[in-house]
Amino acid sequence: QAKHKGKSAYAHFAPEMTEVSHERLQMESRMRRALELNEFELNFQPIVDTDSGNLVAAEALLRWNNPSMGMVMPDRFIPLAEETGLIIPIGEWVLQEACRAAVTWKETTGRDIGISVNVSPRQFRDPGFTSTVLNAVSSSGLNHNQLELEITERLILDNSIETAEILRQLDDAGVRLSVDDFGTGYSALSYLKSYPFDTLKIDKSFVQDVMKEAEDASLVRAIINMAHSLGLSVIAEGVEEEAQTHFLKQEGCDYSQGYFYSRPLPTEDFETWLKTTQRLQQA
Ligand code: C2E
Ligand code: MG
Ligand code: MG
Ligand code: MG
Repeated sequence: QAKHKGKSAYAHFAPEMTEVSHERLQMESRMRRALELNEFELNFQPIVDTDSGNLVAAEALLRWNNPSMGMVMPDRFIPLAEETGLIIPIGEWVLQEACRAAVTWKETTGRDIGISVNVSPRQFRDPGFTSTVLNAVSSSGLNHNQLELEITERLILDNSIETAEILRQLDDAGVRLSVDDFGTGYSALSYLKSYPFDTLKIDKSFVQDVMKEAEDASLVRAIINMAHSLGLSVIAEGVEEEAQTHFLKQEGCDYSQGYFYSRPLPTEDFETWLKTTQRLQQA
């Protein structure tokens, strides 16, 4: 009894910071080996045409399958990968793997399916970023306009000449650019007219409540109209219910993504999904 008490007292007084930084260091050293140990995998989530429900693209979503930690989701490790710079080699792997997957789908289905890849600020600011992207596209044999890079408003916030220049280079090369999590980051909208974006992805926090909150419905409607008048297409993220799809159709939202259509799927499951839905779509 006394022993037990002593132990928990000790644990209680253990400096919290030490524990946190130990965990961080351990995660960092595991992450350093994860690429060579092949622990990363991509899941793919369908992006469909809102009107028809037909697949047009997929978003590549990173997973880290580590023997001691299990399946680690990106929100748990991307921030550390950013801080340590490991996101640069990891992000390069994601780009190559994603482009290769889309080329495989072309071979198996005969269809040009777009592939969207998330890019974090540290990756984007790396001097080799543009050539990493273009290499991944050309070495896989993908069409440039089948790749869409998803960039958050947080990244655009710096408003620097470098950001503008990189976006211009990628756009000139024919790569598509989208604003991810639109509406959550940055309220000034002027960047939309000066940067060559193709697509706005409406953040799921707005989409989630379109049927419950009149304000959210108004915001989504306004974003769709604004995007269209600027010549951008719109993807609604986080579509979970059928009622939302009716709303989005009615408001003219071009594309939709969310659990209602499919969760992000491991490669094999995505390919099965592809074959099944393709058969249905052709029927
Ligand atoms: P994101 O790019 O906004 O991706 C969408 C997230 O919403 C994904 O979470 C997806 O699983 C989830 N989601 C999709 N449909 C629904 C739905 O209907 N309801 C709900 N509640 N959620 C839905 P995930 O896979 O955990 O990824 C989280 C974030 O991690 C991503 O947000 C993205 O910012 C980042 N991320 C993922 N993969 C990569 C990557 O390869 N590189 C970088 N830099 N970031 C990545
Ligand atoms: Mg995204
Ligand atoms: Mg363009
Ligand atoms: Mg998003």
